Amino acid sequence: METKKCEECGEAIKGRIDKKFCSDLCRNSFNNKLNSDSNNLVRNINNILRKNRRILEESLQGDKTTLPKQKLLDKGFNFNYHTNQSITRNNHTYTFCYEFGYLPLENDIILVVKKREK
Ligand SMILES: [Zn+2]
Repeated sequence: METKKCEECGEAIKGRIDKKFCSDLCRNSFNNKLNSDSNNLVRNINNILRKNRRILEESLQGDKTTLPKQKLLDKGFNFNYHTNQSITRNNHTYTFCYEFGYLPLENDIILVVKKREK
């Protein structure tokens, strides 16, 4: 008969064939680890988004501001993460981190804006 091994500790499992863990303890610690990994991921991404938002907020002067992309990168802006995008009538795609957004212009210049309240 084939023996299954506990996914947490590797011990051979006795009993029902559909069991994945040797004990409740192993099942719990396996699931806790899974949860904490995805919590870490969520936390890390939230931190990136909050940082991006703060950098945009700090860069914005008045309604809109243009600045070199490099200035955002120097402050640690991460262009891989955003909360949403919106396309204007003239087909420009603004990328937002919460209420602050940006539009890449020519020559690595970035236009920073704040979403208008509706
Ligand atoms: Zn086990």
